[in-house]
Amino acid sequence: MDTQASHYRLTCLHCGREYQDSATGFLLSCPEDHEPALLRAHYSQSHFEVSHEDSGIFRFWKWLPVRRTFPNVPGPVVFQSEYLGQRLGLENLFIVFSGYWPEKSAFMETCSFKELEAWPVCARIPAGENRTLVVSSAGNTAKAFLNVCSLHKIPCLVVVPEVGLPFLKMSRPKAPHVKLLVLQGNVDYLDAIRLGQTISANEAYFPEGGAKNVARRDGMGLVLLSFVEAVGKLPLHYFQAVGSGTGGIANWEMSLRLLQDGRFGTKTMQLHLSQNIPFTPMIDAWEQRSRLLLAMNAVKQRKRLQRINAHVLSNRQPPYSIVGGVYDALIDSGGHMYAISNAEAKRAGAMFLKEEGCDLDPAAEVAVASLEQAVAMGRIGTQDLILLNITGGGYQRREREQQLRCLEPDIVLSLEEFQQGQIWEKL
Ligand SMILES: *Cc1c(COP(=O)(O)O)cnc(C)c1O
Ligand SMILES: [Zn+2]
Repeated sequence: MDTQASHYRLTCLHCGREYQDSATGFLLSCPEDHEPALLRAHYSQSHFEVSHEDSGIFRFWKWLPVRRTFPNVPGPVVFQSEYLGQRLGLENLFIVFSGYWPEKSAFMETCSFKELEAWPVCARIPAGENRTLVVSSAGNTAKAFLNVCSLHKIPCLVVVPEVGLPFLKMSRPKAPHVKLLVLQGNVDYLDAIRLGQTISANEAYFPEGGAKNVARRDGMGLVLLSFVEAVGKLPLHYFQAVGSGTGGIANWEMSLRLLQDGRFGTKTMQLHLSQNIPFTPMIDAWEQRSRLLLAMNAVKQRKRLQRINAHVLSNRQPPYSIVGGVYDALIDSGGHMYAISNAEAKRAGAMFLKEEGCDLDPAAEVAVASLEQAVAMGRIGTQDLILLNITGGGYQRREREQQLRCLEPDIVLSLEEFQQGQIWEKL
């Protein structure tokens, strides 16, 4: 492991300029003045290689933009679906499960694939960084960072909207260097993002960066790396429920690296991304093949997102239009999107619990329902190799087995206080 971060460089997907992460610290976007574009990590190791000296998810560090590794971090598990595959007539349906499911050896503490981003993001932070990391979240990302930063003495401020607070149940108390800020009022994830941006502009803080952080994306891309390590081939189809779409972008980018490697297949992996009706901003744009999200007033959008069960899918400003974002990933992969109602998701989740034996995050229920829809539409061949990304599950199980406690916020800020600039006296 090289702490200088010299096993990768960053390339701007718009102008092609290259950057060395070691010189810049924690680069989130191209410094050139042009349209918004993602950076992408390019690794000096062009073949997919698992490091057998390392354990847990950091066995994949050669394709992670990190300066350090953490031992024994549990990752997703991969298995062929018995019941669901049979029911849908799919002979090669594989599930990549991130969550808590002891029978399958899945032991992710906070039960979602957001842990796959939290660990690499923390491992990317340069040694000697003394500013505080700022993370905004609708729920699962908050849990993942509260946990990782508590375990490893990383100063962190987590910003969540009030509606996310009841979901922040943890098995251990957070550490004193990790602060939880709750934004009160009629607010959602986007308000928490804006507050996070305001705070991280202060010199004592720095932003995690969301989809712009290459460590977050390549961390989520561990879903595909785990699949290919287990199955030996690239899947033809990738199914996931999306709020920001970062996981979709991330696994598409990983599929490009694996295609370049050449040993795992030559066919493009098709993205099948789903959202929860009635909050479907990316689908609405995609159906018109529009690179821009369609205009909708904020009040209407808020009303819609309050009606979805899968509240982690409630991002009003997803990285859809940005160069290298969801739109480009869908175009390049010949992808599809699916709109799933609360009732369809619930039915799919109940079936999964009964037949496969694990409770799912409502977002993962959306993904299962989208697979059913794709099959019904005749988009999938019975022999096709399929990756179903079950992004979270086992919450109920974990709650039965562990003492989970709701977290108390360190700071409570109202939307009015935020708008009037009364942030700094509270921090
Ligand atoms: C965040 C989240 C998603 C959506 O992921 P994105 O790729 O960021 O849109 C899906 N499922 C669960 C459980 C999540 O926590
Ligand atoms: Zn650029």
